[in-house]
Amino acid sequence: MMSVQITCTNCGSSIEVHPDHNAHKAECEVCKHSVDVKFTSEHEQGILKECPVCSRQDFYKQKDFNRKIGVTLFVIAAILSIWTYGLSLVALYLVDLFLFRKLALVAICYKCRTNFRNLANMPEIRDYDHEMNDRIVYSDHDFKGKPLSH
Ligand SMILES: [Zn+2]
Ligand SMILES: [Zn+2]
Repeated sequence: MMSVQITCTNCGSSIEVHPDHNAHKAECEVCKHSVDVKFTSEHEQGILKECPVCSRQDFYKQKDFNRKIGVTLFVIAAILSIWTYGLSLVALYLVDLFLFRKLALVAICYKCRTNFRNLANMPEIRDYDHEMNDRIVYSDHDFKGKPLSH
């Protein structure tokens, strides 16, 4: 089932929800602020076409990598490299290569940064595009789900 992680617009905490077309609000457990959501039966089937939070259709996918763990591992490897003559950094690189390549993917809404996991249509979601991101975030451009064309 699709899991949706919304960032609370009030306090920045993440709100985890599952699609339910009867639910129109997602409440933040931390500050009790509620965020409007619009789920369809498509979302319930794990298909992401339209963002339930901002109604945009532009998403990108990336590895579902836990940044905190990554940073911690890097710090440990960097400290250890003093005694291992840099070998721990090589080891970290190998771990990254073999372990993190296999990690699941997460789709992210360019506009509101809502995260979507366990999508049925993940292969349809394109990779991150820097130019699209800039135009959506800074110029509020709406690509309506179409790829960037020149
Ligand atoms: Zn909140
Ligand atoms: Zn959105």
